[in-house]
Amino acid sequence: MTETKQFIRPEKDHFLADENPFEAMMSRFDVAAGLLKLDPGLYKVLRNPQTQIIVSLPVMLDSGETEVFTGYRVLYNTSRGPAKGGIRFDLGVTLDEVRALAAWMTWKCAVVNIPFGGAKGGVICDPLKMSMAELERLTRRYTSSIIDVLGPDSDVPAPDVNTNERVMAWIMDTYSMHKRHTVTAVVTGKPLEMGGSAGRREATGRGCMIMAREALAHLGLPFKGAKVVVQGFGNVGSIAAELLQEAGAVVVGVSDVSGGLYNAKGIDVKDAIAWRDAHRYLSGYPKADAVANDDYLTLPCDVLLPAALENVITKRNAGDIKAKLIIEGANGPTAAGADEILDRKGVFVVPDILANAGGVTVSYFEWVQDRDGYFWSEEVVNQRLEEIMVRSFKNVLELAQKYSVNMRIGAYTLAIQRVAAVHRLRGMYA
Ligand code: NAD
Repeated sequence: MTETKQFIRPEKDHFLADENPFEAMMSRFDVAAGLLKLDPGLYKVLRNPQTQIIVSLPVMLDSGETEVFTGYRVLYNTSRGPAKGGIRFDLGVTLDEVRALAAWMTWKCAVVNIPFGGAKGGVICDPLKMSMAELERLTRRYTSSIIDVLGPDSDVPAPDVNTNERVMAWIMDTYSMHKRHTVTAVVTGKPLEMGGSAGRREATGRGCMIMAREALAHLGLPFKGAKVVVQGFGNVGSIAAELLQEAGAVVVGVSDVSGGLYNAKGIDVKDAIAWRDAHRYLSGYPKADAVANDDYLTLPCDVLLPAALENVITKRNAGDIKAKLIIEGANGPTAAGADEILDRKGVFVVPDILANAGGVTVSYFEWVQDRDGYFWSEEVVNQRLEEIMVRSFKNVLELAQKYSVNMRIGAYTLAIQRVAAVHRLRGMYA
């Protein structure tokens, strides 16, 4: 059982758990569709998922008993290219959630203009209670059950909640065994040894850092010395904090599930990472003051970077936020009701579908490298990521300014415009 630990990220988000996730997403979609005067037929097309698969997965447990798990894969839209999106293993997985996340991936890939559609998958299971061997059998059975949609040209999964490089390796192997040859490009987020990309682990945090830099420049605020509070100290939060500090910002707050830490003079992020690695959590770190998680997001700072959970900025605390800039490292950290309050206060928000798109962008690079069989250096990966993130920020800002809307609606508008344009050009096959 101890072997399963490396899979488990039990604090990870349950996407928009207290609302219908699909409708919460679509409330923003509708505003953008209205601005674009999207024709009613195309509106209906974009509001409906293209393919939804539900599979029953019989798996032999270590005890010799058979359990049947339920798995989903939703391909929301593939008009711009193969579907792209993670697979999560979690007890909280629902078809509604998977569908919402698949739609989200569609818009995210379109915002950064990479040639992918959007997908998501999930299996209802409790990985905490499963052995490594059971997880492997479940992964392989799930892969073979959805194999007709998988493929480098049709649907390319990636890690998500409670899945990781190890799971991607099993998916790649299962798919390759069926195809009778090795197909590395069928999944991304793989180990480097088998076709993973340099820079993938850091990509989402790096993208957040680039967005903070671009947004501060746009607002006419200095990057050097900008005070940053980061919520969440996992892959996205700790790497973003480290890169922001390296680039000259002062990280005054870091937090994880164990609580928040604040030091007005700045926290040495590398030192805090070393503490977390040694003690599992940030709590007890001696060179900063402890702050309760409830008071954390309203600490004084210039930049707030939520990189943990969904729905943490709500109607309740949005009015007390001191930051001038919010970079949404997490998916869905701002509840729909808080947008208006932040707008009124003049807080500039770089929305999740732009701010955390660095991850899927480098997944795209991984897919390109696998298909070419030619691998890039980390410098090349980072430089190409930089180009795409900077260009996407400009594109979203231009639309936000054109329609006098916030960056979130600007990003949805850009995404819908791009997906709709391809639908119009391709026409309707009947
Ligand atoms: P992770 O599991 O590596 O880290 C999550 C962090 O959040 C941990 O430090 C955890 O302790 C902390 N946390 C949990 N509950 C908290 C709470 N109540 N208060 C403060 N901190 C809390 O996850 P991650 O990969 O860094 O992902 C974080 C968010 O970013 C998620 O919403 C994820 O969907 C999103 N995201 C991640 C990627 C990626 O490439 N990893 C890409 C796009 C979006």
